Amino acid sequence: MRKIGVLTSGGDAPGMNAAIRAVVRKAIYHELEVYGIKNGYQGLIEGNIEKLEIGSVGDIIQRGGTMLRSARCEEFKTDEGQQKGIEQLQKHEIEGLIVIGGDGSFRGAQKLTEKGYPCIGVPGTIDNDINGTDFTIGFDTALNTIIEAIDKIRDTATSHERTYIIEVMGRDAGDLALWAGLADGAESILIPEKQDDFDDVITRLIRGHERGKKHSIIILAEGVGSGFSYGQRIQEATNLETRVTVLGYIQRGGSPTASDRVLASRLGAKAVDLLLEGKAGRMVGIQKNKLVDHNILDILSKQHTINDEMYKLSKELSI
Ligand code: ADP
Repeated sequence: MRKIGVLTSGGDAPGMNAAIRAVVRKAIYHELEVYGIKNGYQGLIEGNIEKLEIGSVGDIIQRGGTMLRSARCEEFKTDEGQQKGIEQLQKHEIEGLIVIGGDGSFRGAQKLTEKGYPCIGVPGTIDNDINGTDFTIGFDTALNTIIEAIDKIRDTATSHERTYIIEVMGRDAGDLALWAGLADGAESILIPEKQDDFDDVITRLIRGHERGKKHSIIILAEGVGSGFSYGQRIQEATNLETRVTVLGYIQRGGSPTASDRVLASRLGAKAVDLLLEGKAGRMVGIQKNKLVDHNILDILSKQHTINDEMYKLSKELSI
C-alpha cells in the first residue's frame, strides 16, 4: 500500500482533528502518502480530495470540529453513489480509506469494503454509542462540557428552590446523560434505554423537597422526549417551580480533553497499522485500555447497551 485516504463523516466530535493528525503522521512515518477527503462521503463523490503533508495537520490537536469538515450524504447510500466514490479513489490511486465517524459512517465504509475497497473505521461521536469500544472520540469532551454547564446552573440554583431539567444530547443512547448524572449527582436520569418511570421521578423530587433540599437536577437524554414538555409535567405533578435548559450544540464543540486527544491519537494510528497489515472492514476501538479491532458488520449488528451497574448506582446515590 502506498497511498491512503482519510475522511470524517456524520456528526462531528471534538478529537476528530487529533485522529486525523495521527493518521497523517503515522502514515508518513511509514512512508505512505495521505490524502484528505473533504466533507465526508459528499466530498468523496465530488472528488474533493487533497494531499496532506506533515505540516497540514500542525496545530490542530487542540482544536474542536474537524479540519476535513463533515457532511451527511444521501447519495452515498446508493450503489451509484458508492461507485462514484470508488472511481474518485481509483483516480487518485488511493488504495485504502480510514473513516472517522459514527455507525452511519461505518455502514458506508462497510459498503465500500464489500465492493472490494479496503476501509477501516475509527469511532468518533460524542454519544459513546458504538459497540466494541469502551469509549468513542469526543465523548469525554462533551461530558465535561455538560458538567461545566450543570455546575454553573447549580451556582445559580442554590439561591432558589427549583427543579432543574437539563436536556442533553443522545437520541438513541443515554451514556452522556448517565455519566453526567453520576458526575453531577442528579436526582434522576432519564435515558432511552430504560423505561421512564415518571412516578419514581416525582417521588424522589417530593422526598428531596421534604428533606429541605434547595434544588434538584434531572438529566434527560433528548431521545426520551422534549425537556420542555417534561418540565411542564413535573411542575404540574409536584407544584415545584421548574426550569428547563437544553444544552444543544455547545456539547459538540470545544477543545478536546486530554483523554480524547490521547484516545484519538491511539485509534488513528492503529487504523493505519491495520491498513498496512492488509486488513479491511474493521473498526478500531479501545477495551480495558488495550487497542482492539472488530469486524464492522459485528459492531453494526449489535444493539448498544447501557452500563446497568452505573444506572443502578445513580439511583442508589440519589436517594
Ligand atoms: P454518523 O456516522 O455520525 O452515525 P450518519 O448516520 O448521518 O452519521 O451517517 C453519516 C453518513 O454515512 C451518511 O450521510 C451517509 O453518507 C453514510 N451512510 C449512512 N448509512 C449508510 C448506508 N447504509 N450505506 C452507505 N452509506 C451510509
